[in-house]
Parts: sequence; C-alpha cells; structure tokens
Amino acid sequence: MATVAPPLATPEQIAKYEPVIGLEVHVQLGTRTKIFCSCPNEFGAAPNTNVCPVCLGMPGALPVLNKEAVELAMQASLALHCEVRNTSIFARKNYFYPDLPKGYQISQYDRPVAEHGWVEIELADGTKKRIGVTRLHMEDDAGKNTHDGYRDSDSYSYVDLNRCGSPLAEIVSEPDMRSSEEAFQYLTELKLAMQFTGVSNCDMEKGNLRCDANVSVRLKGAEKFGTKAEIKNLNSFRFLRQAIDYEIARQVGVLESGGKVVQETRLYNPDIDETLSMRSKEEAHDYRYFPEPDLVPLQISDEWLARVKAGMTELPAERRKRFVEEYGLREYDAQVLTATRELAEYYEEAARVSGDPKLAANWVTGDLAGMLKAEGKEIEDSRVSAARLGELAGLIAKGELTGKLAKEILPKMWESGDAPRAIMEREGLKAMSDTGEIEKIIEQVIAGNPKQVEQYKGGKTSVIQFFVGQVMKATRGQANPATVTEVLKQKLG
Ligand SMILES: [Zn+2]
Repeated sequence: MATVAPPLATPEQIAKYEPVIGLEVHVQLGTRTKIFCSCPNEFGAAPNTNVCPVCLGMPGALPVLNKEAVELAMQASLALHCEVRNTSIFARKNYFYPDLPKGYQISQYDRPVAEHGWVEIELADGTKKRIGVTRLHMEDDAGKNTHDGYRDSDSYSYVDLNRCGSPLAEIVSEPDMRSSEEAFQYLTELKLAMQFTGVSNCDMEKGNLRCDANVSVRLKGAEKFGTKAEIKNLNSFRFLRQAIDYEIARQVGVLESGGKVVQETRLYNPDIDETLSMRSKEEAHDYRYFPEPDLVPLQISDEWLARVKAGMTELPAERRKRFVEEYGLREYDAQVLTATRELAEYYEEAARVSGDPKLAANWVTGDLAGMLKAEGKEIEDSRVSAARLGELAGLIAKGELTGKLAKEILPKMWESGDAPRAIMEREGLKAMSDTGEIEKIIEQVIAGNPKQVEQYKGGKTSVIQFFVGQVMKATRGQANPATVTEVLKQKLG
C-alpha cells in the first residue's frame, strides 16, 4: 500500500526539536597488503586481479592477521583517545551478498580492539565540545558490484573482488552530535587525525572514508531519544550535511503530522537531495555473530602498545597548539596551516629555513595559497618548494628584499623554479640599503608636490600615504616602506 509522505517540517517546527546524531565511520587502513592475506591493498587494478583463495573465500583457505593492519588500528585508536584492549576477538558477521564470497564478514563484535575515546570539535561560538567514540573495531571489506558502464548492463551486474579483504577500522561515535554542523566538524577532525597519523589517506572518492549517520529527533527538553533512522553511504562532506538536514526535517514533519518515525535504514540520494527508505526494521539483518574459529584472539601487550605510541606523529590538535606556542601564530593561522599534514609539513620547513615563522606563515597562507588556488593545486604540487619559500621570507626578514619586491619575485620562482637570490641578481631587484639615496628621492618627491606638503602641514597627516606611494614608485618598490615613512615624517616636520 502506497502512502503519501507527510510534508517536510518548517523551520519553526524544527526549532521545537533537538536532533540527536551519531556517526559510524569506515576508514580503510593504508596497509601494503590486505588484512588476512598477502594480496596488494591497492585501488584501481584491473577487476579481480588482486585476489587469492583467502580473500575469495575458498573452502579451506585460512586467514592470517596482518600485523601492519593491527598497528594502524592501534594508532587510529590512540589518535581518537581510545583505550586499547589487551585482548580482542574476531567474529563472523553472516550475511549474503554477491560482493561477499565468504558469506560472512570477519569483524569484531563484543570485544573490539578499542573503546571509550573522544574527538574534540569547535562549535561556531568558539567553545569546544567532546564527541564520544564508543568503539573502534577491525574488519575486512567486501568487494564491489558494478551495475552500469557495460554494454550488457541492462541485464547483468558485475562483481569486482579486488577490495575484498581490504582492512577497515569502523569507528562508532556516541549519539553526542546535535546538528549537521557538529557531525561535519566531527568527521573533519576524525579525518585529519587519520591523515596526520598516516593511518589512512581518507580519500573519499576511492571509498577510503565512508560514513553512515544515525539520526533521531526529540522535543527540546525531552530525556528519551526518539526513534532513529540510519542513513547509509554519505560519501562526501557536503552530502553528510545535506542528508542530515533533510532527515531532521523529514522526521519532524512526520511527528508534527501526528505520525510515528519508523526505525529503518535509508539511503541518501544527492540528485534529489532526499533520503529514501531502503529496508525497515522488520527486514533488518540478523547477522548471527559468532567468534571466528580460524583466528586466535588478538593479544596486544602493553609493551607493543607503548612502542606503537612512541612511533606516532603529532596529532593535528597538538600541532595547532604548538604552532601558536612555538611560532607565535594566531589561532586562525594555526588552524589554516594544519588543514592537511602536507600543508603543516610544508609550513614548518619554510618557517625553519626563513628564521621568521610568522612571516613564513603570511607567505604560505597569502601569496602562495593564492597561486595554488589559481592553478587548482594542492600544497604537495606546489612549484615553489618549502625551502625556496623559506629563503624568500628570510630575505625579507633580513631586509634584503621588501614585501613588494618579494611579491614580484614569487611568481618568477613559480615559473622558473629558481632560487629567489638568483632571480634578484638576474633582474637587479634588491631592497635599497643606501639611506642617502632614499633621502635624495624623498627630497625630490617633497619638492615636486608642494600642495600635498601644504595639506600635511595643515594637519591632514593621512597625506603621508601619498608620499610613501610616490617614493615606492620612484624606487620601483625597492625601498623599505617603514624606513620611507620614518624619513618622510622627519623631513615634513
Ligand atoms: Zn587475497
């Protein structure tokens, strides 16, 4: 029986409710080989070439746990402030689907590798909020079904099992988020933590970071959670936000029309910006979990955990804090410069070479960022290396270049790949250090503009900018504007 869905709620109706959101995130661990066999863990190979009896689920083929996958899962757990269990158990999660030849997924059930962590997010008003991480468990990935792109796609689907057995960490949050924005911030911080530690590249286009959201609503002030819907496959940050907002409006609409929210799994369709029912609770899977008989319990000793911890790189939040304390950067700049691990490393190298971390920060977030944006490039593709940018900032810091000259030189570095000093020598660009010469030019400018001198002396001190501009023009930007201003003030009395 077809029923007409109630209308989406109005903003006034939504305002009466509080959304409750939890996320389940799958992160593909960046190992060389799969989790239970030695097939390569790589994306983009010809279909069904990275497979063996183990990941194809052949009878009698036995899984062997990949130590690198365990260590990455330990790092992921530590990055999310989780407690890592000394003993965890692999379990079979049974279900039937063509992309899962074993007929079950090897996952972890009642004893996951880690629990009780948190991720700190910053809210719009600047306050911090901790989102609880319930658990992190390891599991193997399924293959992929392809329903289109082939000549006979109208009658056949194809199965590629290359991804079968790729190592995943599933990270389940507490239902601590109260808006799509908080969910967005949580996923952003989680992704950064995975990238900074090198656990995963989190490339969403390749499916290395996948997210499902549990969403419910309750009247503000209510204690009890509402009935939740699970939204599957939110494969971009934009879709995550849109899908949650849609789902909140849908659920409030149902409640406000006197209906009941049904517990179900829904799929977000970005083409129409709606979530659609996939299966109801009655049809929900019973996975019949049981301990995996082919794998011994995973034992993680305190020594092993300590060793992995000692080898970890700094987390984004730690790095941000250090940028403020060690380099004297503003919070905002520290935030921008830790947007990716590559950017943070580029900046630190430039800062070290320049000897002036604040100045280096200005050039990375300013002119260089502009040039990257203009060409649609990421920092790792920059045609000016971190060391070269550091040299440029260093020359300004030492007074050998003015900011204006450096702005001329940087595009030339971008084009030629040359060192800034080589360009300075080739083009005869350098800051004027001869104050006698600067004074002479200033005197000429003053003599040539009696009207402005009159205005200045009459109290209109802002005219000084006009004089500075004239001097900079006359020196082709080679004079230091601060020196010019100072000398001008003296001469004008
Ligand atoms: Zn294999």
